[in-house]
Amino acid sequence: MPKFATAARDALADTRLRRGLRSATEAGRARQAGAAAELDDWEALREAGRAIKDAALLGLDVHLEELERAVTEAGGTVHWAAGAAEARRVVTGLVRATGETGVLKVKPAAAREIGLDAALAAVGVTTHETDLAEVIAGLGAVPDGPDGPDAHPDPARIRELFLRGLPGAPPDLTDDPADLVAAVRAALRERFLTAGVAVCGVDFMVAETGTMVLLESEGNGRMCLTLPGTLIAVAGIETVVPSWTDLEVFLQLLPRSSAGERMTPAVSTWTGITPGDGPRAFHLVLLDNGRTKALADEIGRAALRCIGCSACLNVCPVYERTGGVPYGPVHQGPIGAALTPQLRGVKSAHHASLPFASTLCGACADVCPVKIDIPEILVHLRGRVVESRRHRPVPSPELLMMRGAAWTLGDRRRYETALRRGTRWARLLSRGGRIRRLPGLLGTWSDARDLPAPPAESFRFWWARRPSRARGGRP
Ligand code: SF4
Repeated sequence: MPKFATAARDALADTRLRRGLRSATEAGRARQAGAAAELDDWEALREAGRAIKDAALLGLDVHLEELERAVTEAGGTVHWAAGAAEARRVVTGLVRATGETGVLKVKPAAAREIGLDAALAAVGVTTHETDLAEVIAGLGAVPDGPDGPDAHPDPARIRELFLRGLPGAPPDLTDDPADLVAAVRAALRERFLTAGVAVCGVDFMVAETGTMVLLESEGNGRMCLTLPGTLIAVAGIETVVPSWTDLEVFLQLLPRSSAGERMTPAVSTWTGITPGDGPRAFHLVLLDNGRTKALADEIGRAALRCIGCSACLNVCPVYERTGGVPYGPVHQGPIGAALTPQLRGVKSAHHASLPFASTLCGACADVCPVKIDIPEILVHLRGRVVESRRHRPVPSPELLMMRGAAWTLGDRRRYETALRRGTRWARLLSRGGRIRRLPGLLGTWSDARDLPAPPAESFRFWWARRPSRARGGRP
């Protein structure tokens, strides 16, 4: 992907998308604030969430081994995947072993992270999304965004997409939302009843019991988890919590922060397999893919506390204007900017640009239910990006400018000379009291800002010319 700023251009120029995002994020903020205000102990809950996740991450090795034991005892099979390629290989092998040619998906973030769709397609297996928003997105290029009708295409556009690509969509389909949902339900029901394999993500894994927990609003998750004969869960290792009682905290924090609900409509928990009930085979793929590297970073590791509620997206002024696409396909919004460079490194221009896709206003840290100080992580990562470029054979223009500034500001004479010349130069560029465009690379800065012409004389020189008495008697 290109740098964040380049990737965001299309979204910034799309007024319909921006209107939709504004409306969806405003509604999300109001719902979250209302749901949090209902609880007197909201701050205590946040603090408990932070503490549980921190403790879980510090004892990750112990908890994961306990989890593996419990899942295995309950009839499941645990696979460890150090990276995306290994996870793809494991899941593809498991699906092929079933002989199925189609796979259902629910909570697809982890599957998206490992690029599962393309890997399965390469061996002739088709994946089917089951979340309504994902079904719509899968039928056409639609803007990403928080769940909410305003961030998605209008009903007329959805009807067009359904008529073109949704199996069994009736030709007389209207754009009434109830009709559209009914068409998706009919198409998915057929798939639920015939599918042999499902791949799911999870929200939490309970180490002491080996229990998987999945929260969703549409009921599609429950169908995926119970009807197919083989269930494969792909889970980031950071989703483990030590004990069942820890869920008490997160099952309050997550729905209120996510959709402003008191509880999530469908909370599914399962432990291994139960003969005669649900899947006959359960596989758990524990995905590292950069997480242990992030865990080793004292500041950056806080991002692994994330419980995926999206509250930080709704309050972010950058996300509200760009939507999710410029952040990349997996982790979006402020937490995406803090997590992706840690998981993927900062070598690519896109990943290196993410920590800068923020105003550092701090709204994300204020709202986060597990108190992740995202701005602190972003500043830390900015330092890492700068550091990674320091020893390049050809320094970046930014680094050259910073070195020049350091040299100039390091000496009073040099600074004053630069100030005089810079003021003269800037006044030559100005028209009508305003500089319309700075030359060269600096032009990118002035393209998006009003730049007033500087006064003929800076305060510093004016002050130096004043008689000493007027300056308070000091020389
Ligand atoms: S970082 Fe964002 S998505 Fe993650 S828990 Fe905090 S507010 Fe929710």
